[in-house]
Amino acid sequence: MAETIFDKIINREIKADIVYEDDQALAFRDINPQAPLHILIIPKLRIATINDIKPEHEALVGHLFSIAGKIARDEGVAEDGYRVVMNCNEAGGQSVYHIHLHMLGGRMLGWPPFTDQPKAQA
Ligand code: 5GP
Repeated sequence: MAETIFDKIINREIKADIVYEDDQALAFRDINPQAPLHILIIPKLRIATINDIKPEHEALVGHLFSIAGKIARDEGVAEDGYRVVMNCNEAGGQSVYHIHLHMLGGRMLGWPPFTDQPKAQA
């Protein structure tokens, strides 16, 4: 699997506003926030997409959600509420092929989350 920009963030080759780190995971603010709080939570292990998650990754993926809950409490959005999503592949809106939870909060979030955007004619 090819290295992505997230490996460079893990390795401190490019800067990010890191809010949480442990031996398995890293969380940092999204460079293009879609809400007042928009944090990406990633495993340090490179897994390209949800389709690549294997049974041996289940504890690691669960750990990402545990971190989301901790960050929600730290950032003061736990009671009001927030959203955690993981996009998969092109139709799911994935652009960085290293799995990550998007954690969005600090405003009312609409549901369903996106208006369908028909692709421009070539
Ligand atoms: P995806 O589209 O794959 O679900 O989400 C990738 C996210 O990574 C996007 O929300 C994008 O703004 C964010 N992102 C891409 N490059 C960088 C970067 O260099 N730094 C940070 N902090 N976020 C990034």
